[in-house]
Amino acid sequence: MANLEKYEPIVGSYVMEELYTIAENLKGKIIQNVNSTAVGGGVAEILSRMIPLLRALGIEAHWDVIKGGERFFEATKRFHNALHNETTNPLQDDFAVFLDNTDENLRDMKLYGDVLFVHDPQPVALVKVKEALKSRWAWRCHIDLSAPNERVWNFIKGFVEHYDAAVFTSPAFAQDLPLPRFIIMPSIDPLSEKNKKLSSKFVDSFLEKHELNPEKPIITQISRFDYLKDPFGALEVYRDVKRRVDCQLTLAGGGAADDPEGAKVLAEVSEKAENDRDIHILTNLSDLEINALQRASSIILQMSLKEGFGLTVTEALWKGKPVLARPVGGIPLQIKHGYSGILCHSIPGFSQWVRRLLVNKEYAKRIGINAREYVRSNFLITRHLKDYMLLFLFLLETG
Ligand code: UDP
Repeated sequence: MANLEKYEPIVGSYVMEELYTIAENLKGKIIQNVNSTAVGGGVAEILSRMIPLLRALGIEAHWDVIKGGERFFEATKRFHNALHNETTNPLQDDFAVFLDNTDENLRDMKLYGDVLFVHDPQPVALVKVKEALKSRWAWRCHIDLSAPNERVWNFIKGFVEHYDAAVFTSPAFAQDLPLPRFIIMPSIDPLSEKNKKLSSKFVDSFLEKHELNPEKPIITQISRFDYLKDPFGALEVYRDVKRRVDCQLTLAGGGAADDPEGAKVLAEVSEKAENDRDIHILTNLSDLEINALQRASSIILQMSLKEGFGLTVTEALWKGKPVLARPVGGIPLQIKHGYSGILCHSIPGFSQWVRRLLVNKEYAKRIGINAREYVRSNFLITRHLKDYMLLFLFLLETG
């Protein structure tokens, strides 16, 4: 059972009291979360921390994952990219594949929650059976819907309209819908393996294991190997910086069960890295290792061309690291340029800022301090728990 008391020194007793009080009103209610992957990516990351904490607060929270074959996840990846306004268009039969898969899941799954909390487009159509149930339904959209491909959005929207509420990460991501809409920003758990304090001994042994030189600055991007995360941009920035400042680049990433593109992108990145011994491509790191890598890095890059919220950014900010990123998706919510990080548009812009921060260590440190405090005030899981519990109360009380 998650230990709630350990959060008090980080966020204060008032925050914790508020959580206990709100949770009292949800006792005996079942909150059933549904998404499309148990591992990989930000949604699974959040759910894996959120569920035990809701339970520790006395709420019966559950998490179920829909099933799907390769063909289904290829279709939903195309939907995902199209909703992010990428040029990828869905194939004609992607829509039928999506609907068939929903029906198969509806045959196998039990939808038993008082609240059905459905994450992202993949399971959105489960709502088809809502009328036959007494539950309340909320759709939690983690992606940037500010300029979606219309055909895909209209298809998804046809299901969203049956929900009792929709939740977006930012006002800019929200679409016009005939139902109550809420803005809830994601969060990180400061006590998870990924974010907790680590001993310098552990960090040193991580560097040794992966043959990283502790004397040479490390520039890092951690992300699923996905074109939209632009690992190729990170390679370009590194090469540009390296012409003047000796450094190493680490690209760490794993796949997500619902992302079929990872292996292809990884192969292309590895090829582009050629035989540079200062480029380290690390796959399948544990949470503790991701934590160690973030702590060992001098600079964290997030080159994403499109982004949902960007939890990797939050994780690095919490570790007091200067994060340089493109101002896309939820990143500008987290990085106030020049204060809690750096926002850049072009590769030369990135490399100029990386060099500047590697040289001006005082400025890098100050940005890191601001970054950590910004996360403490806005993006820790305690705030997120409160927002979710208030949403559940709203749903149950308006039902
Ligand atoms: N992540 C990880 N191992 C990896 C790559 C990513 O554990 O090799 C985690 C990362 O630390 C973060 C999440 O996956 O917690 C990615 O979330 P984000 O919102 O940045 O992007 P998404 O993958 O959801 O688009």
